[in-house]
Amino acid sequence: LFAGPVDFLKGVVAMEGLPPDDRPEVCFAGRSNVGKSSLINALTGRKALARASNTPGRTQEINYFLLGDSGYLVDLPGYGFANAPLPVVEKWQRLLKHYLSGRASLRRAFVLIDARHGIKAVDEEIMTLLDRSAVTFQAVLTKIDKIRDSERDTVLTQVRDRLSRHPAAYPEIVLTSSEKGEGIATLRAIIAGLP
Ligand code: GDP
Repeated sequence: LFAGPVDFLKGVVAMEGLPPDDRPEVCFAGRSNVGKSSLINALTGRKALARASNTPGRTQEINYFLLGDSGYLVDLPGYGFANAPLPVVEKWQRLLKHYLSGRASLRRAFVLIDARHGIKAVDEEIMTLLDRSAVTFQAVLTKIDKIRDSERDTVLTQVRDRLSRHPAAYPEIVLTSSEKGEGIATLRAIIAGLP
């Protein structure tokens, strides 16, 4: 993966719209405002590739990006909107369940966690869904620049403890800051190293 230029392919609102699963893909999930758009932009080296849109309703689509000819990078809609209407939440959950359970080419899911907040109940829900779908997932801490170095161990301990209860969790946690660039090359290398 990451063998060529990154281009937006399409936004998908229903299962029928998914591209054929003929090449490996990775997906990114996280609570709204976790820094997912910023991270995808930092990873791909493109500014504003992933729209930094936090509007419920506008973000209920799965965005596909082409990684050269080699694979797809998939931006899942942000979850955990405090006041999203129930039909919006339910539609999102249905699409996500379908996507996660039926995507043979999905090599790994990256679950983004705000370093200041650690793993929350809504994150647990998606991790449980990933367990059930047998999709290996890896936790990525975002906005690591927003916490003190002395606070890193505390959040890492919480995240490690929670991950240990999820059979599909990959043990290595990636610490990132899209702002400062920390961990971006590491994450890119992890993705590039996936089969
Ligand atoms: P999304 O809703 O998950 O796509 O989140 P965004 O990428 O739009 O980021 C949400 C907010 O967090 C924005 O105000 C970003 O500028 C900020 N943000 C994102 N990543 C970082 C980071 O690494 N460090 C800091 N300090 N702020 C960040």
